[in-house]
Amino acid sequence: MDKNNVRVRFAPSPTGPLHIGGLRTAIYNYLFAKQNHGSFILRIEDTDLHRYVEGAEEYIVNSLNWLGIPFDEGPGKEEKVGPYRQSERKLLYRQYAERLINEGKAYYAYDTAESLDEHRKNHELKGKTFIYNWHNRKKLNNSLTLSQEEIALKKDKGEPYVIRFFTPADRTIVLNDLIRGEIEIDTNILDDKILFKSDGMPTYHLANIVDDHLMKISHVIRGEEWLPSLALHYLLYEAFNWEAPTFAHLPLILKPEGKGKLSKRDGEKGGFPVFPLNWHDSIGYKEAGYFPDSLLNYLSLLGWNPGTEQEIFSKEELITLFKIDKVHKAGARFDPEKTKWYNHQYLQKKTSEELALDFVPILNSSLIPSLAFDIKYTSKLEYLEKVVSLLKERAFFVKDFWELGEYFFHTPQNYNEKATKKRWKTTTSPLLKELYDLLKDLSDFSSATIEEKTKNWISENNLSFGEIMPPLRIAIVGDLKGPHLFDIMDTIGKTESLNRLNIALKKL
Ligand code: GLU
Repeated sequence: MDKNNVRVRFAPSPTGPLHIGGLRTAIYNYLFAKQNHGSFILRIEDTDLHRYVEGAEEYIVNSLNWLGIPFDEGPGKEEKVGPYRQSERKLLYRQYAERLINEGKAYYAYDTAESLDEHRKNHELKGKTFIYNWHNRKKLNNSLTLSQEEIALKKDKGEPYVIRFFTPADRTIVLNDLIRGEIEIDTNILDDKILFKSDGMPTYHLANIVDDHLMKISHVIRGEEWLPSLALHYLLYEAFNWEAPTFAHLPLILKPEGKGKLSKRDGEKGGFPVFPLNWHDSIGYKEAGYFPDSLLNYLSLLGWNPGTEQEIFSKEELITLFKIDKVHKAGARFDPEKTKWYNHQYLQKKTSEELALDFVPILNSSLIPSLAFDIKYTSKLEYLEKVVSLLKERAFFVKDFWELGEYFFHTPQNYNEKATKKRWKTTTSPLLKELYDLLKDLSDFSSATIEEKTKNWISENNLSFGEIMPPLRIAIVGDLKGPHLFDIMDTIGKTESLNRLNIALKKL
């Protein structure tokens, strides 16, 4: 195999939505492929008919596309070595299983589930573990022990069977993993794994090896739950006389508390998504308001980092810097707070126009009032751009703009009671009335001018900022929150600012 021609695959089973862990596996495959100018292939491993879930494949494809890591080859796209769904390659696997049988490297087994259970129980009673391998395969019901006639008879009767791999005994094999280094395995502890099931479908192991070979996969990058299967996979490559690809087994993604694998339940408990997109009633990262480039950045560093202080990386930087052999062996703790921090950082980098456009669908358009649009803004979008530019520093998500800046869209409906009690004194109204008259005469209602005039007026009258600014903010915003007050007044315009001041003077 030409290792210079990098071909990697992401091979999910369509048994449900893509979990964060699966997504990280896809990302590492993608980064590795791109940095080596290779191909990123999507293969759908749907040999387990019972676990097939309608819509899962489409979900996986949509997720990869949303995250910005589309596959190069796969179902319906650049089908060079397809089909890419294992269910459509069913007939092909059979011939490879038979090849192993003919060469004495696999055999038919007729043991029923009940008889195997019986063996298991008997072993347990003696304090032993039953393994179907060199130790006892000669005592079981298979083509190694039955005569040709008996086998032919079973075939005639259509008796169900499986095909098992004949695992060689007394060997130590040395497995190589890019992340874990060398691992030695004694073949005597392995069982004769089933390659072909009685339902006429191959098992994961056979289909996976045959496909990786036929699809010319150079590197297998997958989750560490497949590490225990690696010895069998090595033996299968050897049995077929094929060169094995290079393997890298990725560490688990752990719960926020640090122990155990991150699960759907952790997301429900902690109130954070574990799926990229909505799936039934589970909310996805996309719908929760995360930017795909932010999530890609965070997940890329979950299990690997370039060892510097830098935390924000573009996709291009990740492609250049990623080092598969520097991926950590230990599990990576998932930190939902950090995903929010990333989103905040990415939000700051977006232009006001991008943010305003994202904000439009969240806003009910009737809520964008006429305010001072006619005079000051050429479009509602321009107004929104101004609003988001004032709010973005405080926002983690685009949807936060509403909560942070509702007052940009309507006159305060009510005034924060606690703030008003504390800040709106008996002396406030006459003073703000005076300020109202002053502002009314301003021809330039820009933030700088309002600020200058107000401040001058405060000092000329020997007033304090504490007397004026908080109640003025209450009148404009309804609360003591928000960005620079004069910027808010400038943004909503003179008419609306004076209107709000007037209403507050009447109500408070
Ligand atoms: N179908 C397997 C899974 O869903 C793929 C494992 C592999 O990449 O070899 O995890």
